Amino acid sequence: MTVAWTAQGIREDFPILGRTMRSGAPLVYLDSAATSQKPLQVLHAERDFYERHNAAAHRGSHQLAEEATEAFEVARSTIAAFVGAAASQTVFTRSATDSLNMVAHAFAAATMLHARGREQDSRFVLGEGDSIVVTEAEHHANLVPWQELAAKTGAELRWVGVDPDGRIRTEDLASLVDARTKVISCAHVSNVLGGTLDIAAFAAAARAVGALFILDACQSVPHLPVRLPDTGADLAVFSAHKMLGPTGLGVLWGRDEVLAAMPVVDTGGSMISHVTMQESTYLPAPAKFEPGVPSMAQAVGTAAAADYLTSLGMPSVHAHVSALAARAADALAQLPGVRVQAAPDAPPVSAVSFTVDGVHPHDIGQVLDDDGIAVRVGHHCAWPLMRALGVPATVRASFSVYNTESEVDALLVSVERARRFFT
Ligand code: PMP
Repeated sequence: MTVAWTAQGIREDFPILGRTMRSGAPLVYLDSAATSQKPLQVLHAERDFYERHNAAAHRGSHQLAEEATEAFEVARSTIAAFVGAAASQTVFTRSATDSLNMVAHAFAAATMLHARGREQDSRFVLGEGDSIVVTEAEHHANLVPWQELAAKTGAELRWVGVDPDGRIRTEDLASLVDARTKVISCAHVSNVLGGTLDIAAFAAAARAVGALFILDACQSVPHLPVRLPDTGADLAVFSAHKMLGPTGLGVLWGRDEVLAAMPVVDTGGSMISHVTMQESTYLPAPAKFEPGVPSMAQAVGTAAAADYLTSLGMPSVHAHVSALAARAADALAQLPGVRVQAAPDAPPVSAVSFTVDGVHPHDIGQVLDDDGIAVRVGHHCAWPLMRALGVPATVRASFSVYNTESEVDALLVSVERARRFFT
């Protein structure tokens, strides 16, 4: 894959990359899996919305309200197109975490309403004997909501295990999934192990028993060409802030008929079609799931981020980011005592986690920070995965469009300096 743009060429779009850190070292930002940096195009789009078009979308008939509505809905179409989806299937939330909670709460709501004799789509109704299947590699955002749902409904939470070498035991699906499995949910790309899961196997397992397949696409949408309707997922989530967009906006994508069947969780203004003192009826998706004045500037900024990535070309983005990740993973694995925490057959998309024998990840992180290198150290919101890998924490370097080979090399020098210092 030839890359028409260079990371060096686009770095000026990201003013923060010009910073010098406390130690006097220039910033080397290798923490994009936590949150990405934002290009000027995104900052300008948000600012332009506030400076020229700000009003409450979907409310009022004055010109500004019309402009705000237009900007918001055009942004929705742009973001939907970025993941191969229709605007009507693209719901805005506060974050991916919010999207996942909304879905889990929808199952709980359907279960409760069903118990009170209100007709619900049976796919959303859970009870004892039913099961929810996730993996041991999930981010807490795709685990804890399901634990709560199991506790509320009596359904059993089951999980596909992870081997100590980071391999996800996808073959476990055969014994875990049965006719009473209602939900299968997994990450597209692990935020710790860095590789892609065999989501076709998860989708097939769900399809075989009529379960809903929910995809956590937080770590794939920023780096891979992803067409959500082609993933086999019924519902999928991602966050704007990891794809060069602003904080405060998440996406919940769903198949039309799944969103139509899914009960509402949050209610209020904007999402209704009719209200009396006794009861209300709701608009079709996506409005049905978006009560209140929406995050308009954030949507406009996220559309600018999607346009920015599209202009680079997602196949080129993938080629660039995965090449940096592979360069880091291969070189780190050569260092004595360094273990890359990833399955051997799942090359990293962006994130590379590692440990250094006899040295706590926080000590490595401290040395790297002194060298201006921002990585994440800790459990990465994946405690069960840390236990499966047999480590308390890892160091995670993660890459984006603006990172360069020389930054990977700076990481390697710094890790080696830390290793020598502490061992
Ligand atoms: N899932 C995965 C795989 C993630 O990496 C993250 C963010 N670390 C989330 C879910 C949650 O995303 P957010 O914090 O933006 O809600």
